[in-house]
Amino acid sequence: TVVGVPRESAAGERRVALVPKVVERLKVRGLDVVVEPGAGSAALIPDDSYVRAGATLGDPWSADVVVKVAKPSRDEIARLKSGAVLIGFLAPLTDAEGVRALADAGVTGFAMEAVPRISRAQSMDALSSQANVSGYRAAMLAAEHLTRFFPMLTTAAGTVPPAKVLVLGAGVAGLQALATARRLGAHTTGYDVRPEVAEQVRSVGSQWLDLGIEAAGSGGYARALTDAERAEQQRQLEQAIGGFDAVITTALVPGRTAPTLVTAEAVKGMRPGSVVVDLAGESGGNCELSEPGAVIVVHDVTIAAPLNLPATMPEHASELYARNVQALLELLVDADGALAMDFGDEVVAGACVTREEP
Ligand code: NAD
Repeated sequence: TVVGVPRESAAGERRVALVPKVVERLKVRGLDVVVEPGAGSAALIPDDSYVRAGATLGDPWSADVVVKVAKPSRDEIARLKSGAVLIGFLAPLTDAEGVRALADAGVTGFAMEAVPRISRAQSMDALSSQANVSGYRAAMLAAEHLTRFFPMLTTAAGTVPPAKVLVLGAGVAGLQALATARRLGAHTTGYDVRPEVAEQVRSVGSQWLDLGIEAAGSGGYARALTDAERAEQQRQLEQAIGGFDAVITTALVPGRTAPTLVTAEAVKGMRPGSVVVDLAGESGGNCELSEPGAVIVVHDVTIAAPLNLPATMPEHASELYARNVQALLELLVDADGALAMDFGDEVVAGACVTREEP
């Protein structure tokens, strides 16, 4: 089986789907890897390190299995051979047309975001691996934009209290943001609508903000709030947010527009120089004032809604993603490296979004 690794074409995408270390492991599993020249250059991985790992340089699109980070463009879909397998973030819940185009092209597509979040599939959980990068970067951005110190300082010139950081939505990204902000010396508080998260927030040394609203959905995700719950949540958060120097938001509900947690009124109540870092920009944002992709200042509060933070740390983000792809690939091939997809397997079936009927 030949695995193709294209150069990512989406604007600003610096990650690459496989790194040399993983190429070595796939070779051992009997797979051949063809890397497009320059595929790793934005992630600072030169072509010759892929070659040293056993890959060949060439056209990745004629491979049996093409592995990508971002979903393919229409031109790229046209270059896939009929019957090929494609693995990547294929946005199955938000890009139905793209998925249909794959089906029309006779491609069997596996979406990394559709891998079931069960223990056995943890090594393939690319949403988590990339959310860790986003959460870390969000805390760094908050520290950078805040006009005040994160840590407590005790100096001859006086004492500065630690910054207070609130993280709204304490899933994988939120917990990493809490842990990172704490390592930078901030006083941290986490909030979520899934009650089981309270213990996880405390385990990273943060306080838990309890608003008395519980909204656990299926598969470990949150459900959307009712109108009444949303109004109550916004009202309580408007009161709480004024007490924090930095608010980092990560709240998402699969396949939906992100919930508004930080209203314009709440921003108005923040101390000048404070910061909102909104990680939900790609889904519309958790802050009413966010402009996805931009950093703006409103009422002397900096509001940053960065897009695709994992691409800002392309080496580690690619390394983690490549390990996730490797784990999925290993599930799709037999001991000799030949494709042997068992659609009776919960993980294979769950991740599969289009399937070429033999
Ligand atoms: P996510 O990115 O979908 O959402 C981020 C967080 O926002 C979630 O914690 C969610 O509860 C929260 N949220 C949604 N609406 C909200 C609202 N209105 N107010 C406040 N918070 C809101 O979530 P995620 O980080 O991808 O993962 C969520 C959970 O999935 C994990 O915490 C875990 O339980 C589960 N998970 C399981 C595995 C596994 O077993 N392999 C791996 C990763 C995650």
